[in-house]
Amino acid sequence: MNKLLIFSAPSGSGKTTVVKYLMETLGDKLGFSVSATTRAPRPGEVHGREYYFLTESDFRAKVENNEFLESEEVYAGILYGTLWSEVHRIWAENKMVVFDVDVKGGLNLKRKFPEQALAVFLRPPSVEVLMERLTKRSTEVEHQLKERIAKANYELSFENQYDVVVVNDILEDTLQTCEKLVLDFYNK
Ligand code: ADP
Ligand code: 5GP
Repeated sequence: MNKLLIFSAPSGSGKTTVVKYLMETLGDKLGFSVSATTRAPRPGEVHGREYYFLTESDFRAKVENNEFLESEEVYAGILYGTLWSEVHRIWAENKMVVFDVDVKGGLNLKRKFPEQALAVFLRPPSVEVLMERLTKRSTEVEHQLKERIAKANYELSFENQYDVVVVNDILEDTLQTCEKLVLDFYNK
């Protein structure tokens, strides 16, 4: 069966860190679904690797053309979306598709594939810790940081709609837990 693994969490919870680790350790079983976004690349981010960085008009043309499974304005004026072409590419390689999407996008994907998808909610130990991690990451300017933290409080209320919740406290424990979850799901 073609399977999908959804990792969702408020920004700063550790999704990128966990998904990167899983791709490094289980890359023969997993393919990362590269989303499209209209935000600017961060230093070190490469078009086609972390994201497909599109202009807003290119993004909207793809929406019109039904190229997205789901798409959303995750932050004010910034669009993100999951491309069908990514899912088909990864399934053609006989791998499970891994998504790093926001909480609403994750639930939309789970609704589309109720049997085939495992939806994992990664939770920070507290909102204070989340703020600390986001601030330390230093990738957002002040108003973006505030927007992300405000959204986090709302997103945390959706965790009970996910199949599994993993609290990301000690990173090493989180990575081991997620690796086991993925292998169990793969072998199911
Ligand atoms: P997300 O992709 O959910 O926005 P990141 O993976 O970028 O989150 O993590 C946010 C920041 O927190 C990064 O700087 C990352 O290195 C750090 N981080 C992730 N997990 C932990 C952890 N368990 N303990 C301490 N710092 C962490
Ligand atoms: P960032 O800008 O920090 O890379 O991502 C911001 C948020 O957008 C994160 O919560 C990330 O998971 C989410 N995101 C990334 N790609 C997609 C996507 O294709 N769809 C949705 N709904 N959210 C996405």
